[in-house]
Amino acid sequence: MTALLELSGVTAFYGASQALFGIDLSLNEGEAVALMGRNGMGKTTTIKTICRMMEHRDGLIRFAGQDLARMPSHKAARLGLGLVPEGRRCFARLSVMENLIAAARPGEWDFDRVAGLFPRLAERRDQKAMTLSGGEQQMLAIGRALMTNPRLLILDEATEGLAPVVRQEIWAAINQLKQSGLTILVVDKSLKELSGVADRYVVVEKGVTAWTGAVNELTDELADRYLGV
Ligand code: ATP
Repeated sequence: MTALLELSGVTAFYGASQALFGIDLSLNEGEAVALMGRNGMGKTTTIKTICRMMEHRDGLIRFAGQDLARMPSHKAARLGLGLVPEGRRCFARLSVMENLIAAARPGEWDFDRVAGLFPRLAERRDQKAMTLSGGEQQMLAIGRALMTNPRLLILDEATEGLAPVVRQEIWAAINQLKQSGLTILVVDKSLKELSGVADRYVVVEKGVTAWTGAVNELTDELADRYLGV
């Protein structure tokens, strides 16, 4: 099987400062992979290179059979990369409905299906995004990504800063998406939640893929080595 997403030996720089030194990652259709690592190890930077918000320097990034080098982000998005960015950016002055419609591309995901996943968004369809709670904004950010009918959903710290009950709601939705067969790349710090959703882990340390394996292969010792504080 050829992977839907494949990164090999990816390096990237912020100006003169190197952030990625060799990222390897592959993701098959229908799989959920968690990208993990301590703060500042390069998870968000890896996602930025995949979504073309940042150019990589060396290495290869392929998605849906295409080389993403020098591809602009809007074109990569059209191939089916659906990003839920860190910090959940939505259009603050647009309503929930308008935010969702603005993102829409033809496919199975439409307003009704998003509303089924997040009933709270349906209840608040006419409310401006800036008046939503943090959790509701996160639901909207996920809804927006789904409305693009992505082949790959990428979630960067989707539950950061949210109250425990809301976190649970979001994880339940992510689980549902996984069960429905959506391919998912997720960055998060909560091992407990990730272990329920992910098939495989990819651990990044100092800009390098340090370990990759099935969820049940991550021993306490490995978790402590790569993720412990
Ligand atoms: P976190 O869990 O804290 O979000 P991360 O694993 O996502 O961490 P990155 O944000 O990818 O880490 O950061 C990787 C490295 O790149 C860090 O050393 C960071 O300081 C650096 N870096 C990130 N963003 C920038 C930027 N805009 N300019 C310069 N350096 C940056």
